[in-house]
Amino acid sequence: MYIEALKKELKDKKYRMTPQRELVLKVFIDNENDHLGAEDVYRILFSNKHSVSKATVYRTIELLVDFGFLRKLDFGEGIYRYELAKKNKMHHHFICKICGKIYEIEEKHLDILKKELENQGFVFEDFDFKIYGICPKCNKKTKKRIENKK
Ligand SMILES: [Zn+2]
Ligand SMILES: [Zn+2]
Repeated sequence: MYIEALKKELKDKKYRMTPQRELVLKVFIDNENDHLGAEDVYRILFSNKHSVSKATVYRTIELLVDFGFLRKLDFGEGIYRYELAKKNKMHHHFICKICGKIYEIEEKHLDILKKELENQGFVFEDFDFKIYGICPKCNKKTKKRIENKK
């Protein structure tokens, strides 16, 4: 479905659907639950024996962002991560400060926020909300460690 949408969009904008573009988008579809950086995409393609240069991967990802297929995310690591823009529901990101894993937290109140903003004359386009803390797994481990010390 994404591939078809991308093909159409590329055609509308007079770009060609190159095998590279299709490959890069497919990596994101196959790893839907991850938040991949450009290096991750390159590594995945490389390990699947696809010879796409790093520069092409970076360029292609930016193109896919421009087309609205990918959302660019900044978790303050000095690199950008990306995810499929149209996937499932609006969500927030919870970043565990112990294991570094990024969890997706479903957004339930966005409609209320949107309405409030619109009432004030704002135009809502996108949002980027990050929560930092300790994930349930690490929380359990930490608790165990404290208990063992007792
Ligand atoms: Zn954790
Ligand atoms: Zn996400």
